Amino acid sequence: MKPEQVTQQIQQGSRKAHKDYAFDETHDAERPADFWFQQAHTGLVLFAVFYTQACRWSRCLGCNLPARMSQKHVPFSAIMRQIDCLFQHPEITRRAARIHKVIVSNNGSVLDEATFSSTALMYLLAKLNLHLPALEVLSLETRPEYADFAELEFLSRALTEGDSPTRLELAIGFEAFNDHIRNALFDKGLPLNQFEKLVRRIAPHGYLLKTYFMQKPVPEMTDEQAVLDIQQAIDYLSDIAAKHQVQINLHLNPTYAAKGTQLETAFHQGRFKPPLLKDVARAALHGHGKPLSIYIGLSDEGLAIANGSFLRKGEEPMIQALEQFNQSQDYHLLERLLADESTATEADQPSRHLGLAHLKSEKRI
Ligand code: SF4
Repeated sequence: MKPEQVTQQIQQGSRKAHKDYAFDETHDAERPADFWFQQAHTGLVLFAVFYTQACRWSRCLGCNLPARMSQKHVPFSAIMRQIDCLFQHPEITRRAARIHKVIVSNNGSVLDEATFSSTALMYLLAKLNLHLPALEVLSLETRPEYADFAELEFLSRALTEGDSPTRLELAIGFEAFNDHIRNALFDKGLPLNQFEKLVRRIAPHGYLLKTYFMQKPVPEMTDEQAVLDIQQAIDYLSDIAAKHQVQINLHLNPTYAAKGTQLETAFHQGRFKPPLLKDVARAALHGHGKPLSIYIGLSDEGLAIANGSFLRKGEEPMIQALEQFNQSQDYHLLERLLADESTATEADQPSRHLGLAHLKSEKRI
């Protein structure tokens, strides 16, 4: 597909979802959009976001991730320079021996060769094998329709050539479990049978699966409905994990009012309020004893409108407990947090929001 056609698709998707954010055409195309580190229960994770042409789908209701990308094509040579830049960065070189997982994102689909060049992807793999001796998992964010199994097999084979055997993970945006919310309201365009087909295809190869969910992804959803939706997702994915013997991580992102989306409008009209962290803990607690791991996303990546984040002043202890949960998968931390909360004063004033800067052990470049 020609880059101009991809641009048209991006614009059509954005129009359909009434998005009015601008794309980032001023970013240096030879530098990644962002990177940061996460401490998961399995070890140190590098999250790398490459600057490419934006997500072709672009129409999901509350998503403004494409705003960090370009509407225009970014050539493979520039993406290769981004990869060089990443592996030369001192924050990465000094942690290289400890990085056990890399999540690769372009705020869209890394496996969509129209936006993320195949040459650059192969180059990235070579660099990973060369520079990260302890790498155990390579996670690629993608919509399922771009998963080409011959390509995945090739990538997976190449990953075995590094110093440590590295497994491939596909990271799929699910966002909401309820079909109507996910597809009719949020416009995710992901039927359950498409997801299940993907699971059936990856299971025999031993690939891992990461699924992104948003707690309270659409306006007019109550806090209770939002908790229930995540609990149902946990039950569903637990069944899938047990049935297909697939290792699943559920990445739970509390929703923020993203600039330039319908969530911003709904927030100003009083139809959307970000979820409370105690409800996020309540939803995650449902995973206790289930055959999947949960990671709670605690960053709005600076993409929330003023006061539209789920990060609220006065909730630092809760954030610390959730971070500890991410690092340990110790559900007693969530139980304790909820017990403490039930006796504590409500900290739910919109005027008491924090910036994200101190919350994320992140390095921006
Ligand atoms: S949620 Fe994912 S698929 Fe949907 S518009 Fe955002 S980046 Fe694209």
